[in-house]
Amino acid sequence: MANFKLDKILRENIKGLKAYASARDEYVSDGSTMVFLDANENPYENGVNRYPDPQQRGVKSILSSQKNVPATSILLGNGSDEVLDLIFRAFCEPTQDNIITLPPTYGMYKVLADINAIENREVLLDQSFEPDVNEILKIVDKHTKIIFLCSPNNPTGNTFSEERMLKILKEFNGIVVMDEAYIDFASRASWMQRIEDFPNLVVTQTLSKAYGMAGIRLGICYASPEIITVLNKIKPPYNVNELTQQRAISRLSSRDEVSLEIENILQERTKLETSLAAIDFVKEVYPSEANFILAKVDDANIRYDQLLKRGIVVRNRSSQPLCNNTLRFSVGTPDENSVLIKALENLMLTPVK
Ligand SMILES: *Cc1c(COP(=O)(O)O)cnc(C)c1O
Repeated sequence: MANFKLDKILRENIKGLKAYASARDEYVSDGSTMVFLDANENPYENGVNRYPDPQQRGVKSILSSQKNVPATSILLGNGSDEVLDLIFRAFCEPTQDNIITLPPTYGMYKVLADINAIENREVLLDQSFEPDVNEILKIVDKHTKIIFLCSPNNPTGNTFSEERMLKILKEFNGIVVMDEAYIDFASRASWMQRIEDFPNLVVTQTLSKAYGMAGIRLGICYASPEIITVLNKIKPPYNVNELTQQRAISRLSSRDEVSLEIENILQERTKLETSLAAIDFVKEVYPSEANFILAKVDDANIRYDQLLKRGIVVRNRSSQPLCNNTLRFSVGTPDENSVLIKALENLMLTPVK
């Protein structure tokens, strides 16, 4: 971090890039009534006949005041998956650069690396699902552009030690992406308040999980204004549609409703942890700081199929390293969770076939 220089790690073609100037970028309304004849839109009002705000100022202004971060440090995308892809395209030269990910973790980092022809260097989490910092820093070379830290981590559910994350932030001269898709369920604070201290820190969040809006696709990126300016140049001009912006504004304005749902989910998570631990074929319940629980069972394939037959879909994570015979349970409504627990209790009494 001491030697972090944004210009040094940007791709050459991105440094010189001139962004597409849309009609809505060229003329920014000051609020007065104008006759808009500049974007070849259909003039008859139906709520969505106009192009959306390419800078999503309404959404950013709410986020800015709620999160206490300047709007110039916020970028919005079509889900955090788009945000992550923009980060790859800004920094990683295809067939030349590499990134580091820490399995078992979110599968999209590797998929995005493959799509962008970037080598994905994997350093397994240790036995406590914590980053192996020495090993990570050891395999960094001059082509390593990004390290992805997912905390709370999917699928393990834990947050990473602050000390370990700090060491990576300080000693790596590339971009550190902290994926905080589940941060609203965690007891640890977000890193977003520290983007001013670390010019290489990028924090991603989403409305898909705690905010209950997976369907509208809204991902959020917090970083220095310098990094945000670069990502803004690359993003498609109208990447967040009008309906998404409207729904996001209304949801972000209902903070009490969101907090209440999060509280309920946390209470249900605790209950579910206890109930899962009481099932004899559940061998281990991993502590969770997210809205899902990873548990080790006797035979994940068999248990998965048995639940499916009873109309319950969970995620079998057994193919992931360190996750042999694990199932991931999302926390549902109280009713859904008791359907799950009843099914598991029932299976306890059924001989395994
Ligand atoms: C669910 C999830 C996301 C989701 O992103 P969206 O594209 O915003 O829905 C991102 N990161 C992790 C680790 C996730 O589990």
